[in-house]
Amino acid sequence: NADGSALLELRDVKRYFGGVKAVDGVSLTVRAGEIHGLIGPNGSGKSTAVNVISGLYVPTDGKLLLRNKALPAGSLFKVARTGVARTFQNLQLFSELTTLDNVMVALKGQYRAPLPLVLLGFAHGEERRAQAVALALLQLVGLQDQARTRAKDLTYGDQRFLEIARALARRPDLLILDEPAAGLAHPDVNRLVEIIKRIHERGVSIILIEHHMDVISELCSVVTVLDGGRIIAAGTADQVKRDPKVIEAYLGM
Ligand code: ADP
Ligand code: MG
Repeated sequence: NADGSALLELRDVKRYFGGVKAVDGVSLTVRAGEIHGLIGPNGSGKSTAVNVISGLYVPTDGKLLLRNKALPAGSLFKVARTGVARTFQNLQLFSELTTLDNVMVALKGQYRAPLPLVLLGFAHGEERRAQAVALALLQLVGLQDQARTRAKDLTYGDQRFLEIARALARRPDLLILDEPAAGLAHPDVNRLVEIIKRIHERGVSIILIEHHMDVISELCSVVTVLDGGRIIAAGTADQVKRDPKVIEAYLGM
């Protein structure tokens, strides 16, 4: 998966909300094996762009290609089946369920069915296998010791890591993380960086929306900078950090 070929391509993608041009002609390529940073001031269109990619929003205009094939537009479910998974800026956990069961539900992919029905849906051997996979995913994000803890009793940081484990349960080729460090204390930001490295080492390509520039610098080989729904710079973290247009966009916040 890490051969550098184009995994995801956006061609002149637009998404308007009435008069608001949230994304206004974005073209970019995410290559296989890349951690692609997406940065920009608040309201610059980052979340809208990934909402279009993940199928939450239909694009107003433009093309989206995954492995050179049109991405099914406007369907979270269909996009997820093509191997694109995401986390949300706001958490989407089952707070009453255990950490392990949150991942089990994601593995089963039946978000809407009540949990007992989801678990009944597993054949005997299948459920044990699914548990082993779920535990491995919890280990990947450092939550193996909290498997039996209810999601609502996890720390905020651990809840965010659980959300990442749930996204990984879909076995994505491309993982989209929308501000995963938001609200995290410093030690948890460091944990997050290690988790993202581990996921990347397993061959998952990543789009990372992040405000912490040091996190972007450490993880991303390519960074795209949005402002007002348009790309104002792209390159390495070092290159975009020094770009006068980028500096101005951030100062003007
Ligand atoms: P970012 O994630 O970079 O902070 P967003 O993509 O959330 O930016 O927002 C870009 C612009 O689009 C903002 O002006 C925002 O208010 C607007 N916007 C985003 N989502 C919607 C929506 N569902 N309805 C109307 N306007 C929206
Ligand atoms: Mg956002």
